[in-house]
Order: sequence, then C-alpha cells, then structure tokens
Amino acid sequence: MKKKDPRRSTSLIAHRYEPPAGFMAVPPPVHKASTVVFADTAALRARNWKEKTGYTYGLLGTPTTFTLEERIATLEGGVQTVLVPSGLAAITLVGMALLKSGDELLIPDNAYGPSKDFARHELARWDIAHRFYDPMDPASLRAAIGARTRLVWLEAPGSVTMEFPDLVALVGIARERGVTIALDNTWGAGLAFDPFAIGGGDEGSAPVAVDISVQALTKYPSGGADLLMGSVTTRDAALHQRLKGTNMRIGFGVGANDVELVLRSLPSLPLRYEAQARAGVELAHWWASRPEVAQVLHPALEGSPGHEHWTRLCSDAAGLFSIVFDERHARTRVDAFVDALKLFRIGYSWAGPVSLVVPYDLAQMRAQPRWTGTLVRFSIGLEAVEDLIDDCLQALPALAGD
Ligand SMILES: *Cc1c(COP(=O)(O)O)cnc(C)c1O
Repeated sequence: MKKKDPRRSTSLIAHRYEPPAGFMAVPPPVHKASTVVFADTAALRARNWKEKTGYTYGLLGTPTTFTLEERIATLEGGVQTVLVPSGLAAITLVGMALLKSGDELLIPDNAYGPSKDFARHELARWDIAHRFYDPMDPASLRAAIGARTRLVWLEAPGSVTMEFPDLVALVGIARERGVTIALDNTWGAGLAFDPFAIGGGDEGSAPVAVDISVQALTKYPSGGADLLMGSVTTRDAALHQRLKGTNMRIGFGVGANDVELVLRSLPSLPLRYEAQARAGVELAHWWASRPEVAQVLHPALEGSPGHEHWTRLCSDAAGLFSIVFDERHARTRVDAFVDALKLFRIGYSWAGPVSLVVPYDLAQMRAQPRWTGTLVRFSIGLEAVEDLIDDCLQALPALAGD
C-alpha cells in the first residue's frame, strides 16, 4: 500500500483554489467565524471593536450579524442595535449595562415574568433594588420614582393579561425625572407603533421616545418557532456603546445560522404580523360572543383594559389574546378544555406558524389581580381562522365536563 502524503491535510486547508469574485444573489451571505483573520499585524493592532468599520472576533460581529443589526434598527426606527442570544438576554443586558449597586429599577406589575425574576434574584444579589408599579395608573409610576431610580421598564401590552398602558403618559413621567426608559417591544415588533416616536399628532402634541427598545426576535421576526434571539435598539450613540461594551464583556453571542434564519424571515414580517393580527381579532371577537367567557383581553377589543390607549397609539396588534374563565369553571375543567384543543398546541412563546395555548392561574401572577379565575392565552399561528374557531367550538364541551 502506498504511503499517504502527509502534506495533503495542509493542502485541504490552505488550498490554492479561490472562487471568482463578484457573486451576487438575493439573500445576504452567511459569514461564520470565531476567528477573524487580519491581513497583517498593523491591521490587527489598528482594529477598533467599537465601530462597525471592521472585524475583530466572531463574538463581536460578522458581516452577517452587522446586517441583521442594521435591519432591526431600521425596523424599530432606531439607529444602533445589539444582538443577543434571547429576548430575555436582551432584558438582562440592559439591567447589567445600566445599573450598579445602590440603584433601583421600576418594572410594570404585568411585565414578562422572567424579567421580574431577574430583578428578584440576580439584581437583588447585586444590591440593586426594584419596585413594581401599576402601568395602568401613571400616578403609580410617579409615586414609585425615587432618588435612586435609574431605569424604568415599559411593556405594551402587559404580558398575558394584555392591558395596554398610556405609554405617552408613562414616558413623560420618567423623562421628567431624568430616568432611562426601556421598552419591551416584542408584542409591537416595530410594526404596531414606533417606540422612538410614540403618539403625537392629537392636539398637536409631539411624539415621545423611549431610550431603549428590546425585542425577542424569537417571536415575530423569526416567525418559525425554531430559534431564540434578542435585540437591544437605541438612538443614542453613548448609550449604545455602554450596552455593546457590557455585551462584549459578558460574551453574549449569536450564531450565524440563527441570524440567517431571521434575515430570511424579515421580508415577510409585516405580512405575517398583519395576517396573524387579523385572525387574532376575529377569534377574540368570536370568544367575546361566547357565554362561557367572563372577559376577553385583547387591546383591540372594546372593553379590554387600555383599549383607548391602543386605539390612540397603534396601527395594528399582534395575534395574541387571553380569555378569562371565572370561578364557575374549575381549573381542572379549563385544563380539560385546553387538552381537548387539537389545532392549538400547548406551549410557551408565540408568533410561529402553529397556534398555541397556555392556561395561567391569575392569583399567582399579579400582586393585585384584576380578575379571578383561570386565564387562557391564545397565540394565533397561520392556520385558517375558520379552522381555529371550529377547534375551539369542538373543545368547549370539555369545559362543562361533557
Ligand atoms: C418571549 C418574550 C421574551 C423573551 O424572549 P426569549 O427569546 O424567549 O427569551 C421577552 N419579552 C416578551 C414580551 C416576550 O414575549
């Protein structure tokens, strides 16, 4: 047998073939890297990771991540975006970048649950205090802001209970007191309203802006229920550098394959959002006509908390709503109804192609629950809404125990 040429392995790596330059196609190219190579030591020494003028290391950006960052910044009406590995990581990055021992942050009582848990556990251990305020009562925010308050979180609408706050009033109060304002804009996705120009128009008032808008790209921008990613978008260069610096030091990175998927999904984002919003409103209206349901929580429905603020500030709504079954229906019966659904799958997250459902116990979720009973949240996918209504209808007998 002939001996293998030991140099073959080198030739497989440092191969002489170079593809011709000038290839052009519709999708942006996918660059993958941990190592970024430099032309020479002078280039290595000159590199500045803070600017998007070049590349240092895969963790700090590739042409692919820069491209998605720029597109998300445009979607949000912002200037700069930092990508992180999940929506929750976007929230925790803001806290880690902006708060220090002795500071306090304010969180709406109806915020995304894990955001509250981060404050209760990690931030508390770091001697950073937090308080929850009632986002439906601007006076509650005004009263909560103290000398140590450095960050106010907003979320519109609230997680699961879907109350839509008066964002203009809340931003105004925090701005007056010079506190940094961060918004969890996952529901709005950059489409329902502009986080950097909220409201305005009526009575000639100027729109208001948050300082930071975060999104779980996991939801609508991905749309595939197949990846986790988050974004942190700003309009202020110094604030962006603070966030980006912390992100670099804690090492939150995103994978090029996931970035590629989001880039592929973004062009259809407005179409999916609108279709899922339309189906969501239709199904919410159907539920509102059902005698079994005590309340439908959907900001676009009259009688839903904060409907008037949604009407004033938003052009659209995500395909997401909740219904409240009062105590006439035992939790076990509500669970049986959820189990009887066939098209709706049981699971967390939303904005993917498959409709989802999750039951929640109201008493455990809020300091002061507005309702009693069991709440069921629906996330509308891309199935025909007629089929989703039929699915709910066929599952309803399980609620009565039939
Ligand atoms: C899903 C979600 C998050 C967290 O996103 P992940 O990518 O799942 O970590 C944060 N905020 C809101 C409002 C969400 O719906």
